[in-house]
Amino acid sequence: MSENRKPLLGFVGKLPSGTALGNSGKTHCPLCMGLFKAPRLLPCLHTVCTTCLEQLEPYSVVDIRGGDSDTSSEGSIFQELKPPSLQPQIGILCPVCDTQVDLPMGGVKALTIDHLAMNDVMLESLRGEGQGLVCDLCSDREVEKRCQTCRANLCHFCCQAHRRQKKTTYHTVVDLKDLKGYSRIGKPILCPVHPAEELRLFCELCDRPVCRDCVVGEHREHPYDFASNVIHKHGDSVRELLRGTQPHVEALEEALAQITEMNSALQKRVEAVAADVRTFSEGYVKAIEEHRDRLLKQLEDIRVQKENSLQLQKAQLEQLLADMRTGVEFTEHLLTSGSDLEILITKGVVVERLTKLNKVEYSAHPGVNDKIRFSPQQRAGRCRGYEVYGTINTKEVDPAKCVLQGEDLHRAREKQTASFTLLCKDAAGESMGRGGDSVHVAVVPKDKKDRFVLHSQVSGVIGGDETGNLRPFPVVI
Ligand SMILES: [Zn+2]
Ligand SMILES: [Zn+2]
Ligand SMILES: [Zn+2]
Ligand SMILES: [Zn+2]
Ligand SMILES: [Zn+2]
Ligand SMILES: [Zn+2]
Repeated sequence: MSENRKPLLGFVGKLPSGTALGNSGKTHCPLCMGLFKAPRLLPCLHTVCTTCLEQLEPYSVVDIRGGDSDTSSEGSIFQELKPPSLQPQIGILCPVCDTQVDLPMGGVKALTIDHLAMNDVMLESLRGEGQGLVCDLCSDREVEKRCQTCRANLCHFCCQAHRRQKKTTYHTVVDLKDLKGYSRIGKPILCPVHPAEELRLFCELCDRPVCRDCVVGEHREHPYDFASNVIHKHGDSVRELLRGTQPHVEALEEALAQITEMNSALQKRVEAVAADVRTFSEGYVKAIEEHRDRLLKQLEDIRVQKENSLQLQKAQLEQLLADMRTGVEFTEHLLTSGSDLEILITKGVVVERLTKLNKVEYSAHPGVNDKIRFSPQQRAGRCRGYEVYGTINTKEVDPAKCVLQGEDLHRAREKQTASFTLLCKDAAGESMGRGGDSVHVAVVPKDKKDRFVLHSQVSGVIGGDETGNLRPFPVVI
């Protein structure tokens, strides 16, 4: 029987309350919800009425080891194709646990009868009003008494007859209501083959209970004994097996408890980690915002500084332009409109002024540039404990301030390989502090300086991945 299970449907939970009898007794069918009628025991140890089992939709089990056993049309096609020797076995699904039950040859009726459940049903009925139970003798009137000796339920009339008959007059007869504390009724179990005989013997060869008629018929010459004599041996072996099963129950309960525990630990851990993630990312966002504000402040400072510088240069150049214009206009006017004598008298001042103006040095280019760059990949140190990226760079390589270093500087020869280190510096002579700029370096031998012959040209990128080519500059060696 395969253990192909669907999730449990929880039939037990759906049973009407009060169905449990004592600790383990079961009296109600999980399918019809009524008291068991001829209950059968399934291999999974669930009990269902015979008629209820017979109403279940059977399915065919293709009797091939490892073959599947579904009820789809594919399965039936398969059955038609298979050799005739492989008879499909009929199976049902346990209505409680969904375990596949392969029915024996005789079908549902060949399944073991659950006598224990029958007993429980009877006890249940007795504990109630005794209603529904009919006299074991006349099978007609309602039960009122029970003969403990015959272990039979009797109606009022049959009980009186029981007392009158010589053979049974000393039997112990009790009121049904006095039986209500009992856990066993002990109704005799009759042989299915010989319904007049009680199953009191046990055939050791066939390993099942038999009656007196059985041992002289079908079980002739089979070793047998009274059930009461062999019960210890068989009971002990069942108990032994049970001892092997009980630890599994404990182990499984423990395992499930651990799973529950692990599940709650998991939930707690997930919440804790989620809180960590939130705290971290909120902090990170704050750090990035702070870094952003710092960068924007830095950018604003650069703007103010460069603008002030431009303003200053502008004012100076405007002043100089005004001075120049004055000088030019005055002198032109003097030369075009002045008399000879006027020119000669004024010449001294004019010459001195123009000479001075001509000597004034000024830059014809803006003193600052707009070279501001954002390098998003560049590390920018830590902010609130987080590493942040992205820097604003205004430094620019100034070829005039760059220097070559290295041993080869003094011994390099024409047409020989030599290596140098180029230290890139900005206009202020400060180290660039970062890579990413492209450089082209032309090497000119010292003795051929005048002719400026280009012997080799090196180009490459210092460090990183940014561009911004610099003009080639001669390096004298
Ligand atoms: Zn039923
Ligand atoms: Zn079951
Ligand atoms: Zn009767
Ligand atoms: Zn009796
Ligand atoms: Zn028999
Ligand atoms: Zn036998």
